Amino acid sequence: VFVTFEGIDGSGKSTQARLLADALRAQGRDVVLTREPGGSPGAEEIRRLVLEGDPDRWSAETEILLFTAARRDHLERTIEPALAAGQVVLCDRFADSTRMYQGLSRGDLRALVDQLHRLMIAREPDLTVLIDMDPEVGLARAKGRQGTEERFEDFGPALQRQMRAGFLALAAEFPDRFRVIDGARPLDAVAADVLATVGAALDM
Ligand code: C5P
Repeated sequence: VFVTFEGIDGSGKSTQARLLADALRAQGRDVVLTREPGGSPGAEEIRRLVLEGDPDRWSAETEILLFTAARRDHLERTIEPALAAGQVVLCDRFADSTRMYQGLSRGDLRALVDQLHRLMIAREPDLTVLIDMDPEVGLARAKGRQGTEERFEDFGPALQRQMRAGFLALAAEFPDRFRVIDGARPLDAVAADVLATVGAALDM
């Protein structure tokens, strides 16, 4: 089973993915926790190319190619083998992030993202957990965090609001696999919700 986590910066999706991995492992399930961009040695190298250094180094189109290349490697090396071995794969961001960040925030490139996705990825998660929250809350959380990958976190409130609306629109576009979870609550309340939602899907 392939489960992805999506949401704006500071939404807490990485923390929730980790907590869910812990909870499922405690139930005796075989879980692989991975992330994008990255998740395989080659894709982690591409992550550095994209997230570090001059933000204007790549055009929006080249950036989509790099994210797609990273995803392809991640699928081949990490995700597909784990799914074939019957493991539960939890992935922090996947193609929906590219639909949003490259497809929306850097111009109207969604069609290009979708074309490349059909050609080179052609896989959707079984379940996508959208951790939804007010961008002001998310932004405050993201700012409080240490890290070197500042480039994408400098979006500002207006763009974050656009991203939130975009993720909710994606959830409406793919209602079968999206579950929207209110992330503006205490961590353990959100985690309990995530576990109930994903647990129900795993037992189906
Ligand atoms: O999820 P994480 O915070 O590790 O992602 C790193 C940054 O890369 C985020 O701030 C996000 O805005 C950006 N990103 C992106 N396009 C993607 C995936 C992530 O711009 N497809």
